Amino acid sequence: MSRALIIAHLYPDLLNLYADRGNIQTLLQRLRWRGIEARVVSVKKGEPVRLHEYDFVLLGGGSDREQKLVAESLRQQKEDWHHAMQAGLPILAVCGGYQLLGSYYELANSEKVAGLELLEMTTQASNQRLIGNIAIESEWCGTVVGFENHAGRTVHHHTPLGKVVAGHGNNGRDGWEGVQHHHVIGTYIHGPLLPKNPKLADLLLLSALEYANMTVDFYDLDDELEWSAHHSEWSRWTKVK
Ligand code: GLN
Repeated sequence: MSRALIIAHLYPDLLNLYADRGNIQTLLQRLRWRGIEARVVSVKKGEPVRLHEYDFVLLGGGSDREQKLVAESLRQQKEDWHHAMQAGLPILAVCGGYQLLGSYYELANSEKVAGLELLEMTTQASNQRLIGNIAIESEWCGTVVGFENHAGRTVHHHTPLGKVVAGHGNNGRDGWEGVQHHHVIGTYIHGPLLPKNPKLADLLLLSALEYANMTVDFYDLDDELEWSAHHSEWSRWTKVK
């Protein structure tokens, strides 16, 4: 019998803006529907992050205050994060969590919160927030829809997750959204991200199962409801561009 897939949810009490926790529920449910066993490990601030024990990691979004609280804890294990990324651990980081993967996130008072430096990426402050619904087109996972609300403007030279079709994305200027590097996916998209984007959810699960060396029957699900939610947003927001 194969073992359970281990999904780590980091700082669920601090990094959980706009229902980011729903991403975990979606992953679990999609595994359950396929009869694949999974276990969620919630890691609170101050507890060690045992990256070598996980098959997938979620870092959600957070307010500046909460990001500041977790940034220092994260940085204490900077080397472990680098090794895990190189080894191919799938990591999904949303908004505030995404910003913490770079060198720094600048706050409105110009203070720079140092990040994990996993990616060559910086996030500058702005006093104008980028808020609203967002739709992107990704070569990897097709169209993605959701909601964004961030002050930070992120710039990097890695592969973006997708091209902005409606909304703002990384910085509201260059037309790109998110990042893809090794098996790290960073994005500004909340909503939560995964319920209305089943293709992305399954690609993340496939990376996790491969990383875990688990051979399972990963059959297609009936995603009629998920796709109808996805398409109704896509057509709405791409029209109001
Ligand atoms: N505090 C960050 C910003 O405003 C991230 C916010 C979020 O996670 N939505 O840019």
